[in-house]
Amino acid sequence: MSEKNGFMKALKCRECGTEYPLEATHVCEFDFGPLEVVYDYDRIKKSLTRESIASRAKSMWRYRELLPVAGEPTVGTQVGFTPLVKADRLAKRLGIRELWIKNDAVNYPTLSFKDRVVSVALSRARELGFDVVACASTGNLANSVAANAAAAGLKSYVLIPHDLEQGKVVNSLVYKANVISIKGHYDDVNKLCAEIAGKFGWAFVNVNMRPYYAEGSKSMGYEIAEQLGWQAPQHTVIPMASGSLLTKVHKAFQEFEKLGLIEAGERHIHGAQATGCNPIAAAEKSGLDFFKPVKPNTIAKSLAIGTPADGFYALKVMKETGGHAEDVTDDEIRDGIRMLAECEGIFAETAGGVTVGVAKKLIESGKIPANDSAVLCITGNGLKTMDAIQSHVGQTREIRPSLREFEALLEAEKKTAVA
Ligand SMILES: *Cc1c(COP(=O)(O)O)cnc(C)c1O
Ligand SMILES: [Zn+2]
Repeated sequence: MSEKNGFMKALKCRECGTEYPLEATHVCEFDFGPLEVVYDYDRIKKSLTRESIASRAKSMWRYRELLPVAGEPTVGTQVGFTPLVKADRLAKRLGIRELWIKNDAVNYPTLSFKDRVVSVALSRARELGFDVVACASTGNLANSVAANAAAAGLKSYVLIPHDLEQGKVVNSLVYKANVISIKGHYDDVNKLCAEIAGKFGWAFVNVNMRPYYAEGSKSMGYEIAEQLGWQAPQHTVIPMASGSLLTKVHKAFQEFEKLGLIEAGERHIHGAQATGCNPIAAAEKSGLDFFKPVKPNTIAKSLAIGTPADGFYALKVMKETGGHAEDVTDDEIRDGIRMLAECEGIFAETAGGVTVGVAKKLIESGKIPANDSAVLCITGNGLKTMDAIQSHVGQTREIRPSLREFEALLEAEKKTAVA
């Protein structure tokens, strides 16, 4: 292999194994299978050790050999290495011995895990010579493409379904991205983007750049393993939209094992969806290895993909690892958001409510045994989905700036508490 590709060797079809050059292309021309980046693990093993990683800056790029760019990354160099928080109070509430929160609600710069995939996709897009970047988004991806493109001086087009939360729309417009609202669901947006990508020669991060883009999600898994003291969790609960993040966190643990950075061990990967858009969870619960597309209707809009591109592979990972899927209603999503906030002081978006709600169900049903340890992946920030929760968090109590009124308020509260 040539140095000009860094540690990458080729793109390879996941179905038939045909190899392709490292260009902006994503499907096999023989069977339409998805293409994936192949690496030179022998070379990686020589330069990526626990010591070399620990000596590097605290961002997702400390695992740079395992990320698909040829040279040094140029976009999003500060992304990642978000906190892994020991969540003792939430553990008690959910009835599990040990619990951790991987908190991508505070990822840089746009407060969701999507900064990881965008950092990779835009760095690679630049290497391949693109100057216009674009995406089909359920919201967070639009925010991240818009922000990172602005910082990199790239022109961007982000296409979103018309019914997104205001928080996510404003968070794209402010960066002066071209924000196009499509009258339809995400699946309609995605289909249109495939057509545009074919015609205009732009770098669509999750269409023609998808093999590179998707690899960025692995960094969440690498960080979890390093932050746990070089071991993978017994259980990881991951929200699923296309199902890509789930498959990539699993791949991250496998690669770390292959490189001798962690030991082999049982690690169950569980998937979380909203009941209003649960194609993958419904299939897993019925023991099927394929899903039926659905029309989404849920407050968890970031997860509202009715035809998940990686659904088939996500089901396979859960089956192979002895993991399970569950789904939760809108009310259970809000309960999940409040539980995480009240117990750990972390305000997650609706997808986080899905993850917490599903973890609760999996623990209650014994699918995650109470004596085990689990990591919950919190992937987005609650400030972006205020619409979903604002009328469900109680109200402020208003008084004049008077000590007497404040005392009266406390007195009245005492009385209602006793009554
Ligand atoms: C995009 C997204 C996910 C999951 O994405 P996949 O398509 O399954 O990789 C999870 N949480 C949030 C907040 C997201 O924006
Ligand atoms: Zn193929």
